[in-house]
Amino acid sequence: MTKKFFALIIAALFFVATPAQAENFSDHSAANLPGSPVEKFYASLPKAKGDYKSRQRPIMIQGAMNTETEVLIRALKNPVTYRELNYLFVAGTYKNYPVVIVRTEQGVANAAAATALAIKKFNPIAVINQGTSGGHDSSLKVGDIVIGERSIDSSAIKTDYAPAGAGAQLTAQEMRGTYSYDKAKKIFVPYKEYSADTTLFNIAFAVANAHEEFNTVTGVIATTNTWLNNIDYINFLHETYGSSCEEMETNSAAQICHTTGIPFIGIRVISNNILTANPYVPESAIVAQDFVLLVVEKYIRDVLKK
Ligand code: SAH
Repeated sequence: MTKKFFALIIAALFFVATPAQAENFSDHSAANLPGSPVEKFYASLPKAKGDYKSRQRPIMIQGAMNTETEVLIRALKNPVTYRELNYLFVAGTYKNYPVVIVRTEQGVANAAAATALAIKKFNPIAVINQGTSGGHDSSLKVGDIVIGERSIDSSAIKTDYAPAGAGAQLTAQEMRGTYSYDKAKKIFVPYKEYSADTTLFNIAFAVANAHEEFNTVTGVIATTNTWLNNIDYINFLHETYGSSCEEMETNSAAQICHTTGIPFIGIRVISNNILTANPYVPESAIVAQDFVLLVVEKYIRDVLKK
């Protein structure tokens, strides 16, 4: 089944891929429009009555867009929807264990807000943020998966002083990091990076080793609201911080999970790579979701049900 599915996805990737463009995304993909089949499907799901109640703390999986959540939501048994402040959460079970899918919407503020709301509402045992990303490494192809060993906010920098007329040179910079709660100090302090939970990381690594159909690397996920097409700057981030890919949510979800003490990992599929002139392929989002479902299955089996 998985092999067949993969052949299909890879075929789709080739069909969809068009010549590289610098401006290669719009904010309104067809899948997010109100009348679209995905939106109709989400709207058709039963609405939850009352507060979420579960004997076991659910696993939470996040994706920013419909294209990044549909496979996950369709995989749930007995799904019910919750909406808080216009964010969508879908709770159900997967492999007989409670799982909540969060559609965070795009960008760092949305990801943080949706994560905080969802933690308060569902009290997850672990959070996996997943979705699409742009390559920061020319060896990474569309469809490859980056298991986030850690993440950074590549905008959380202080630039060196440069006088008027010196040009907007941003590579002379120092990482400041983002603020989250330090349990020992009992205050919010800046973190230059957030590391993945070791158990989640080891599970993801084991799944990668057991499933050759996924082309997987471990690496650093770089988050900001920025979409970079500046190759020198991408190479700078790759060389300075070791970034494998860029996207707009992982580090901010990691930040909230750090503050609240919830185990976290980011897992991203390469959906575009300006270094190799590959534009955004929305279907790549399916690969990340398929991989994450295997991670969740193994996490349930090896960790939660032991
Ligand atoms: N076609 C989509 C494109 C979205 S791109 C649309 O119509 O909306 C922005 C989203 O994809 C963000 O949620 C981000 O996490 C992810 N992403 C994928 N590639 C990216 C890149 N190269 N840079 C930044 N974000 C990227």
